[in-house]
Amino acid sequence: MGVASAHPIQMVLTDPLLRVGVEGGVRLVMESTLSARDRVGVQDFLLLENYTSEAAFIENLRRRYKENLIYTYIGSVLVSVNPYKELEIYSKQHMERYRGVNFYEISPHIFALADNSYRAVRTERRDQCILISGESGAGKTEASKKILQYYTTMCPTRHNTHYIRERLLQSNPVLEAFGNAKTLRNDNSSRFGKYMDVQFDYKGAPIGGHIINYLLEKSRVVHQNHGERSFHIFYQLLESGDNSLLTRLGLQKTNPQHYHYLVKVCVCRTFVMIFTLHIIYICNLLFSVSSISDKHSWKIVTKAFTVIGFNEEEVEELLKVVASVLHLGNMQFGVDEFEETHVTTDTQLKYLAEMISPLNLDQVLSARDALAKAIYGRTFTWLVQKINQSLAFQCSSVIGLLDIYGFEVFQQNSFEQFCINYCNEKLQQLFIELTLKSEQEEYEAEGIGWETVEYFNNKIICDLVEEKFRGIIAILDEECLRPGDASDITFLEKLEDTLGGHAHFVTHKLANGKTRKAVGREEFRLLHYAGEVNYNVTGFLDKNNDLLYRNLKEVMCQSGNQIVKQCFHPDELIDQRRPETAATQFKLSLAGLMDILILKEPSYMRCIKPNNGKQPGQFEEVLIRHQVKYLGLMENLRVRRAGFAYRRSFEAFLQRYKPLCPDTWPNWRGQLLDGVSTLVKHLNYKPEEYRLGRTKIFIRFPKTLFLTEDALEI
Ligand code: ATP
Ligand code: MG
Repeated sequence: MGVASAHPIQMVLTDPLLRVGVEGGVRLVMESTLSARDRVGVQDFLLLENYTSEAAFIENLRRRYKENLIYTYIGSVLVSVNPYKELEIYSKQHMERYRGVNFYEISPHIFALADNSYRAVRTERRDQCILISGESGAGKTEASKKILQYYTTMCPTRHNTHYIRERLLQSNPVLEAFGNAKTLRNDNSSRFGKYMDVQFDYKGAPIGGHIINYLLEKSRVVHQNHGERSFHIFYQLLESGDNSLLTRLGLQKTNPQHYHYLVKVCVCRTFVMIFTLHIIYICNLLFSVSSISDKHSWKIVTKAFTVIGFNEEEVEELLKVVASVLHLGNMQFGVDEFEETHVTTDTQLKYLAEMISPLNLDQVLSARDALAKAIYGRTFTWLVQKINQSLAFQCSSVIGLLDIYGFEVFQQNSFEQFCINYCNEKLQQLFIELTLKSEQEEYEAEGIGWETVEYFNNKIICDLVEEKFRGIIAILDEECLRPGDASDITFLEKLEDTLGGHAHFVTHKLANGKTRKAVGREEFRLLHYAGEVNYNVTGFLDKNNDLLYRNLKEVMCQSGNQIVKQCFHPDELIDQRRPETAATQFKLSLAGLMDILILKEPSYMRCIKPNNGKQPGQFEEVLIRHQVKYLGLMENLRVRRAGFAYRRSFEAFLQRYKPLCPDTWPNWRGQLLDGVSTLVKHLNYKPEEYRLGRTKIFIRFPKTLFLTEDALEI
């Protein structure tokens, strides 16, 4: 496509000076690196003329996706659409194309984002972070791995630290084995949030790392929905562990169906016979996942253990913990004629179960499950710490990568979605704060005065959740502490009493005494910045309490297993204070995350899943519109466009447009500011269309620029 025949929007795209503020000559790079195919639609949503139109936004995504152009910018935010197929765009040659090249000189890419952050670290020594969000299956984890690959491939090496690169890379398969699982949405779904600092020395060589994990979905250890699996490690071990290892762990190399925790098919006893065939069929479906090779992954994971620095004994201790969780699940209990519960399984765990004081069957089962969850959850955190020890180094600056769950809105939303969506509110708050802050800083540096930007400040929703005494978490904790008749429903009633009048909180009760049909009697609805979500309160108290019987803790403290011993410390038993509830722990860990992120310069990546079938080439509009909404992309665009859409240095602006004015052509000999001033007057720019700062011109609307570009072509 020739530039002259292109639509004005596309012509602007070929302008290398746009928003990069670099000197002339870059145009050559631009034209040689951007093919006509790359220019399908607009590669930056800021250039959409109708930038408030969601339809125009989605159409632009669709046009580009059809051409396998999965990346598009909103200013410095990178939007990606999962291609669900391998694209030839991640090779070393591709990485090289992006090294040292300015953001807008070349087609949008994750490597551009990675390189941009890296250059800021190198040249300005300012810590960076890349925040990746999107719903399950959208491509967050793949993206964070690509960024890590970029750094480990392209950055200089310090001769005695090359092993650290390997460790950085190999931490992924280990954490994925223990923290990822097959779900209906994603065959390799991360069931935890992850923040990883990649640490660099003063020469820009990656020399270490540090990982923080958030909210592992440990309930998956004891229960999975139909068509889903538990964490990969269980299947990898059972499928590929050698016979002697399995014997030492007391496991049988059988179908995972042998293990109660890996088979969660609820059937009524009378129907057992009828459903047997069905169950076998379901089990086969459950355990062989076409895109997952447990055998292959096992090889990678065991190798990764060695690279990270685990010795054989440590690996075996770790696998013993995994095995013990399976054994726990297989413990069976029976009720005698006095209604007392006894262990009926003849295993070495029997003694452990007898420690549980007389409880009814339900209580025993939930105590057993709580123990399994606690053991697995704590071991996961131990694993992260162990990896951190192997990556610890003295560093000069860092790039943080955040791979964390996006907004979740299901038919039924529970405590987990409440926590996840609260996390997204916090991240949105940070986004607003940092985006507006950096805009403000630039305006101040340029001396053009701050312009009020209209935006929805979601602090009100964050407060609604986390405020002391009257926030939802505080009320939940209060109910969890209250002895007597506290229940999920009394919690809901307290919420109604305290928050009934809040603009972002709704229950089924209407002010006029009538009933709001869209909210169930056991639900409350939050009006999130991205949209409305109904939460069912069932299970909130239990999940928040996350209690483990004291005598079970005592047993764990005495364990002979070195890992379990480290996970259950006797100090916990002495401490008289009540342990923090799950929601409060999460709130505190999020506050810690915000403290880390606020000190860094952020880049954002928003990932979109194009269809539910994991199919390449299928762009399902309804699904995508939903994500555009919940990722807050239109709001992102609005905030970015609220001030001045473009800015460029006087020098670059003059260089490009000087042919349009006889006073500036062929060269302007005076001050740059005067030259730009003369030029824009000649071009008839209206005062509201632009501002002149100290070193840059700020242009409010893209249209002004399009017209100037048009003039250049005449
Ligand atoms: P979750 O929240 O469930 O962890 P996620 O956003 O991390 O989901 P990923 O695991 O990164 O999702 O991606 C899901 C799948 O989509 C991958 O296993 C891979 O098959 C495919 N995929 C994602 N990104 C890409 C890409 N850039 N190129 C090719 N395939 C991709
Ligand atoms: Mg993931």
